[in-house]
Amino acid sequence: MNEVTTISVSKQTFMMESTTFKNVSYKNHSAQCKTISGLQKTLWLFVIRCSLFGILLKAYKSPLNWYLGLRYLIQLRKKFLGNFKLKKMVKVDGKYYIGLYTPGYFDDNYRRFITSELNYFKPIKGAGLRFNHVHLAITHKCALQCDHCYTWDTLNQKDQLDEEDLLKVISRLQNMGTGQIHLTGGEPLLKINLLINLLNKANKNSNIWINTSGYRLTFSKAKQLKKAGLTGIFISLDHFDEEMHNSFRGFKHAYHWALEGAKNAIANNMVVAFSVCITNDFVSEENLMKYMLLAKNIGVHFVQYLEPKPVGHFEGRDVKLSDDNLKILESFFVKMNYSNDFLDFPIISYHGYYQRRQGCFAGGNRSVYIDAKGNLNACNFCHTNSGNILSKDFNLALANLSKKGCSIY
Ligand code: SF4
Repeated sequence: MNEVTTISVSKQTFMMESTTFKNVSYKNHSAQCKTISGLQKTLWLFVIRCSLFGILLKAYKSPLNWYLGLRYLIQLRKKFLGNFKLKKMVKVDGKYYIGLYTPGYFDDNYRRFITSELNYFKPIKGAGLRFNHVHLAITHKCALQCDHCYTWDTLNQKDQLDEEDLLKVISRLQNMGTGQIHLTGGEPLLKINLLINLLNKANKNSNIWINTSGYRLTFSKAKQLKKAGLTGIFISLDHFDEEMHNSFRGFKHAYHWALEGAKNAIANNMVVAFSVCITNDFVSEENLMKYMLLAKNIGVHFVQYLEPKPVGHFEGRDVKLSDDNLKILESFFVKMNYSNDFLDFPIISYHGYYQRRQGCFAGGNRSVYIDAKGNLNACNFCHTNSGNILSKDFNLALANLSKKGCSIY
């Protein structure tokens, strides 16, 4: 079979490429991303909107606040994503997801999420969530050597926090109100027993995810994680080409485990996202399309775009995306999510897109990063080292961090 030689944005061409690409690179997998679009999407969106009204009725007494609150939510969405109409959502394990960082509809956290957002419009007593999501590193250990690793400076140091400490951290986050806890590392799957214990022992009022390279995520491990309560998984896949991904990740089986791990997580009813660090060398419509075709053929529900930052292993390198490449990336993102031509492709989540329009919601605002020493940081890429979550003065440290917010956007 020949390599794809032409790339255009017409659906017909993409379908042709899909077949070609599938045959060339990934013959054996038949799963397809199950997106919901068209009439089915419209019906579910109607149900979700009705539920928003129910939340507003509970939150406020005055009809004026119901109306203004609804308008606030609509405008908030527009600020993030512009005037585009929602074209697709995904259903996983009985829940309906419109974004990676929005809890699935029918999940208790969905109501807490909406109530907490309304709290920024007009305070609501007991409004639930202090953090929409928190990234929590549970280990410094990792078998990979990635080009862009943001924890490079501490990689494979001795772990300082044991299971008891981590449970204290999780409990503190949950007591403050945290919708999603993303367990990361290092490579969290190196600590599979710890992961399972944390999942089993943590309160069930947060959705717990893991951020991983997919390292040795067999069907049986995925099953254990799901049984212990894992909601979803971000698997790093930085290229559609096996050699390129393995070389970027410094590990010869990285591609195999990223794809295998994704298949096993999907087969166990988890929400699955591929996360890609998009470098200047990678950006072209052809490469972006090949990547999305692979993601679609594997059957992942979401793809997360990350822009490279000069931290960790990338420190001192000129990795910032050029203006021309940002234009290509943003226009591809909009086309893929909001055109009728790509309804059966995974939904893309792109932080940089909304951060440039709306500002950053990390930096203690709606999210933070807790590193494997328990230190508080503005986000995974801004290592502010602003205090320790296990220390008594954590609340003050968090307040100071939140006041400063994000220093970039
Ligand atoms: S980016 Fe993640 S997988 Fe890669 S070396 Fe760093 S911790 Fe390991």
